[in-house]
Amino acid sequence: MVVLHARPDMNWDKLARACREILPARAVVAAKQELLSYDSDGLTLHRWQPPLVVLPETTDQVVALLTLCHQEGVPFVARGSGTGLSGGAVSEEPALVIATSRMRSILDLDLANRRITVQPGVINSWVTRAVAGAGFYYAPDPSSQVVCSIGGNVAENSGGVHCLKYGVTSNHVLEMEVVLPDGTLTRLGSGLAETPELDLRGVFIGSEGTLGIATAITLRLLRSPQSVAVLLADFTSMESAGEAVRLVTAAGVQPAGMEIMDNFTLNAVNDLFGRKEYPEDAVAVLLIELDGQEQEVVAAMEIADGLCRQAGARTIRRATDPADCALLWKGRKSAFAAVGRITPTYYVQDGVVPRSALPQVLRAIEELSRRYNLPVANVFHAGDGNLHPLILYRAQDDDVAERVQALGADILRLCLEAGGSITGEHGVGNDKRCYLDWMFTPEDLATMQLVRQAFDPKGLANPGKIFPTPARCGESQRRQQSSPTPSPVLQTMEVF
Ligand SMILES: Cc1cc2nc3c(=O)[nH]c(=O)nc-3n(C[C@H](O)[C@H](O)[C@H](O)COP(=O)(O)OP(=O)(O)OC[C@H]3O[C@@H](n4cnc5c(N)ncnc54)[C@H](O)[C@@H]3O)c2cc1C
Repeated sequence: MVVLHARPDMNWDKLARACREILPARAVVAAKQELLSYDSDGLTLHRWQPPLVVLPETTDQVVALLTLCHQEGVPFVARGSGTGLSGGAVSEEPALVIATSRMRSILDLDLANRRITVQPGVINSWVTRAVAGAGFYYAPDPSSQVVCSIGGNVAENSGGVHCLKYGVTSNHVLEMEVVLPDGTLTRLGSGLAETPELDLRGVFIGSEGTLGIATAITLRLLRSPQSVAVLLADFTSMESAGEAVRLVTAAGVQPAGMEIMDNFTLNAVNDLFGRKEYPEDAVAVLLIELDGQEQEVVAAMEIADGLCRQAGARTIRRATDPADCALLWKGRKSAFAAVGRITPTYYVQDGVVPRSALPQVLRAIEELSRRYNLPVANVFHAGDGNLHPLILYRAQDDDVAERVQALGADILRLCLEAGGSITGEHGVGNDKRCYLDWMFTPEDLATMQLVRQAFDPKGLANPGKIFPTPARCGESQRRQQSSPTPSPVLQTMEVF
């Protein structure tokens, strides 16, 4: 089922004037050069400059803006920090961008009940910073946590290193204040553990801005663990690293995080640091973080160490002191930046495979990388099989966007063939909407559209996202048959 909405021609100057009735003039951005900074999110492959951006500070202002959009039939896009990697915060169809970067207050802190309520523009790492002194923290920790917003995290149902043990954003959001696309203010979820309503909170989380705008979010806080330890093991084959992940998981040890970097990435990190942080001939390095009560962590560390050696680890480094732990994590946390030094233009793919399929899927990605003559670096959440192949490209090369996207699509096909998913945590956005029906039947998609229409009958909220449209994606049947054909010539991979 495809839902298309015809729109009248929009008079953006008139809309800007109406927005200035709601907001101070400085909170309405209409100048072309100022709009430049809103023309993409973290996925710079797609760029669309919006006609108008507004910067509300309060829920009342968001209510007034969405009421105006509803009356005038204006499509709108919520924007947090713009770090999304699926083109969610930009719109191909001209739309009003409602940025939450001035909604950055902590509204309530309730340590007795371990919860905090924040405005959507609050940065992820600020939440932990606000409560760390009292011995608490907020668990979901995307690698972008020093810049991404809680509103964006909710919309994408973001994950992170510690989500292996503690769950993703949806496991940590108790309640939300949401402005629906017609301007209605509502609350989804509850601060209590059990309540009888339909779980609309769960429906909203991960809906990528297509059901309305979250204006206040109540998050669950966790007690900081008594003890944390990190282990770093290096391997001469991806199979051995994968086997270590399998053995640790099978032994019943529950790491807080398990991350792998491949040879390309670890050498990019070595170059960034200007020293051999990791053995340059290692095929993979595995980081395992263990947390909990001190004795439990010591015991788990021994088990994990033994199992990594059993799987073939060459060397193992351990850290228990917070500064040493941070040092072991530093390379992983700098991985995207390190790859960005080799080429500032790269496309981060996000697929999921069953853990057991990791080695064979990574081998197949290597093969695809050679065929397309595009280098691919791999850094991923090994514990939950969430791959992040980084496809490196030169923006000035001919047909590069098509080649990069074709390689990305082939990687997702591999994930699906291995029994996985086309996205783990970065969402579908506009980037992957043409692949959604690789995973779901027309009936599945029609059911999802019914939910979306119930929230947004006029289709104003984040138009063109998530669902395939014939105009953008072609006929579904044809697309499924025509796998993008990589170059038949196997070329030597060129690293630029
Ligand atoms: C270097 C790097 C590392 C990353 N690492 C991770 C990672 O480890 N794990 C992970 O999951 N992601 C990761 N990401 C992706 C990205 O940071 C997350 O998706 C993040 O949640 C986006 O937040 P944002 O504030 O930047 O949202 P934006 O990019 O501004 O928006 C993302 C989506 O959220 C919607 N939205 C924003 N605010 C609201 C709101 N208040 N109400 C409703 N909808 C809203 C937008 O419309 C859009 O669809 C990474 C990105 C980068 C660049």
